[in-house]
Amino acid sequence: LSVEDEQYLCSLIRTIPDFPAKGILFRDFIPVFADARGMDLLLEAFVRALPVKPEEFDYIAGLEARGFLLGTALARQLGKGFIAVRKAGKLPPKTVSQSYELEYGTATVEIEKNLVPEGSRILIVDDLIATGGTAWAAMKLFEEVGCTVAGFSFVMELDGLHGLDQLSHYPTSSLMVMP
Ligand code: AMP
Repeated sequence: LSVEDEQYLCSLIRTIPDFPAKGILFRDFIPVFADARGMDLLLEAFVRALPVKPEEFDYIAGLEARGFLLGTALARQLGKGFIAVRKAGKLPPKTVSQSYELEYGTATVEIEKNLVPEGSRILIVDDLIATGGTAWAAMKLFEEVGCTVAGFSFVMELDGLHGLDQLSHYPTSSLMVMP
């Protein structure tokens, strides 16, 4: 992207202090998707930064909820199918589940059991990686149903949390690092 385009895109990412809890800087990508030019620029930069070539994966998986917005737009552009990785309890029966540690307690993500053919290669995407727990859990889900993870791609990586470290056996990319 040109410097001007990059500045424009960054201006659309809203930062909300102390949300959803005190001390957290919440990075809000919703205004990017509300803006046609912003969405185009995001997709253009995201495609260029992909850690693997489009012919090296079959499906794009997005993490609930902003990973759905990014992932479906990307899947449409690259001619791939899209798989939703959902928070627990939202999908009809026959799911596989994976729990992971949060700072306080645990969370669980799920995919439908028979949606993706065994052996499929999956690119996992989300707007932001913090600790990497959600992305790691998504990887476990796909491996459990006999798929392989081709790589991970994020718009933003939170500085100092080393989220990408636990995904270091895989190709990864992120467009920016922020506090
Ligand atoms: P983690 O599992 O810790 O990598 O958290 C990643 C998930 O939580 C992603 O789906 C993010 O959208 C969301 N998330 C975590 N921290 C933030 C933050 N500071 N601002 C916005 N979203 C966040």
